Amino acid sequence: MTNHKFLEGISLDPYVDGKRLSVSGATHPTFDPATGEVICDVPVSDSSIVNKAVDSSRKALKGAWAKVTPAERSRMLIRIAQEIRLDAERLANVESLDSGKPLREAKGDIETSARYFEYYGGIADKLQGDTIPLGPDFVSFTMHEPIGATAHIIPWNFPLVTTARGLAPALAAGATAVIKPAEQTPLTALMLPYYLERAGVPAGVVNVICGPGSTTGAPLTAHTGISHVTFTGSVATGKAVMLAAASHVSSVTMELGGKSPVVVLADADQDAALEGVLKAIFTNAGQVCSAGSRLVIERSCAEPFLAALVARIKTFTFGRGLDNPDIGPIITHPQLLKIENIVNESIAAGADLIAGGKIAKPEGLGGWFFEPTVLVASDPSTKCVQEEIFGPVLTVQIADNFDHACELADGTEFGLVAGIYTKDVSKALRFSKYISAGQVFINQFFAGGVETPFGGTKNSGFGREKGLEALRAYYSVKTVTARI
Ligand code: ADP
Repeated sequence: MTNHKFLEGISLDPYVDGKRLSVSGATHPTFDPATGEVICDVPVSDSSIVNKAVDSSRKALKGAWAKVTPAERSRMLIRIAQEIRLDAERLANVESLDSGKPLREAKGDIETSARYFEYYGGIADKLQGDTIPLGPDFVSFTMHEPIGATAHIIPWNFPLVTTARGLAPALAAGATAVIKPAEQTPLTALMLPYYLERAGVPAGVVNVICGPGSTTGAPLTAHTGISHVTFTGSVATGKAVMLAAASHVSSVTMELGGKSPVVVLADADQDAALEGVLKAIFTNAGQVCSAGSRLVIERSCAEPFLAALVARIKTFTFGRGLDNPDIGPIITHPQLLKIENIVNESIAAGADLIAGGKIAKPEGLGGWFFEPTVLVASDPSTKCVQEEIFGPVLTVQIADNFDHACELADGTEFGLVAGIYTKDVSKALRFSKYISAGQVFINQFFAGGVETPFGGTKNSGFGREKGLEALRAYYSVKTVTARI
């Protein structure tokens, strides 16, 4: 067990119907990925607890939550944001410990989590339908009704912020929720009920249950009482979740990762582009769905750019997230080995290694680290071009010209985000129209966030989170028409 002052008082028990359930039976360890040590063992919610959680969410939907007016809902959401901000230091420390991400990034995540509740708090009392003109003898209008009880399956790379991203619009629309954090990073989701209770959210509106996908996620997504599943994770698991949701005709939002390109043209501000590329791939050690994991660069500027990139990487520090290194750990040992395998297979298939390439062993830390790595791949079918690695590995593709850059950038089965650095506005906009992606970043990477719709095309999934678009998943439209 890791001793950490910020963990004191955190209940690890599932939160169901406004109470902590004490469960006996299986537990699942959560690790400090920097040291490889167990932080604590978290009780696993089996299907009987899943059933209780879903029943509670359904009961609240027609009960206590239905009695809360939109204006009160709005105030509660804003209060949740305040409560999260009041405890931000502790939340950020716990998040950094559990996920391994640098503390400064964890602090950013906690503030963004608060911001989701604030943003959707601002719209909760403004969700209104339309009137539809059918002529003098009819009155027709639409009502927005909460979709029902929703399931939120959360990944390990952005634990609290992904929870807030789905939960805040769900609550704004009057839906209820069962949250299942990733088994690798359950701690901040387990802290969430404290802020919800202080904000006055009635029992049952939000339930938090923990456990692996097979024991907890699968029965939750297959539960007939769930009306919408918001899923963020791998393509393979996303397909399984879609099948489970299909069995009871529930809608889904699928955020399934990417292999996102950052195009750098010769006319771009090269210094700004370098900063953008470094941030795009090395934030959270590359464990980001929307990481810019492919650099597509025009040949005429490639050599100095790559030299500067490699020089910068050599200065990077490793360490525990809590010590704010440039590169924190990889979440699990299997994930570390997966990264190593793809790098090795890509090199064997002809990719050139120009930086990193190996498992790293920082002094005094027994956890899971990988060197920041750059591979140059001339064959677009190489694994490091096509597969999401989820580690600090940048693949470089050299383009002969703008058209070739567009073609290379669009050449994977993913379509989450895409970036371009250029001073030529027409080229930036032509690229934006050409590329298949949910969002395009011009002369920056990752700007926007809470307010800007986010989601994928192709294997990156479908449905949109963030911004006003996200709300659509959480209400259904009822049309009422009368002859008068
Ligand atoms: P990764 O492979 O990166 O760990 P996954 O897509 O497997 O990502 O996991 C993302 C989330 O999906 C986690 O919360 C995990 O527990 C959950 N999960 C895994 N398998 C299933 C499943 N069959 N049904 C529902 N949830 C699942």
